[in-house]
Amino acid sequence: MEDPEKTLLFGPEAVSARVGEMAQAIRDNHPREDILFVGILKGSFIFLADLIREIGHPCQVDFARIASYGSGTVSSGRLNISLDISMPVAGRTVILVDDIVDSGLTLHEYKRVLQTKQPRSLEIAALIDKTGRRNQQVELDYYGFRIEEGFLVGYGLDCDEQYRSLPGIYELKIV
Ligand code: 5GP
Ligand code: MG
Repeated sequence: MEDPEKTLLFGPEAVSARVGEMAQAIRDNHPREDILFVGILKGSFIFLADLIREIGHPCQVDFARIASYGSGTVSSGRLNISLDISMPVAGRTVILVDDIVDSGLTLHEYKRVLQTKQPRSLEIAALIDKTGRRNQQVELDYYGFRIEEGFLVGYGLDCDEQYRSLPGIYELKIV
């Protein structure tokens, strides 16, 4: 049924295929390495769950809760780490996983925080690279989809805690 509020951008099959390709790229770069994935809550939880099952070899997972957004759709410009990881990072192969990179503030700042814990390597995997409002440079080692603008929901991404359980990725029209 047509929904006037949202438009499908990437359906479940496209998402699953792309996540598989990202996992392959990670495997190619880190054959037989024991990777620690650090997911940024809450938006990354579905992407991360699918990604690690595609990786196919043992890995570990930890989470951080970081917000640069309030309840609206515009970045507040400040970083609030309300939950930090608890697993040791020193000497580990670490991949930071987020749902979407917008201004770049969250990943730019949190990557610096993790870097001080001296991982062996530290890369970033983001499901969506939203380029139009970037103001902090972030190097994405792996990304799923690239868009210019728009507010996306589904596959873990929310708008005021709604839509996370949708299997595809949608653009919300009225925000
Ligand atoms: P940044 O710090 O890069 O500006 O913002 C990153 C965070 O803002 C993402 O992890 C995500 O939680 C949120 N965000 C940015 N753009 C969108 C979007 O289009 N949809 C949703 N649901 N969240 C977004
Ligand atoms: Mg987020």
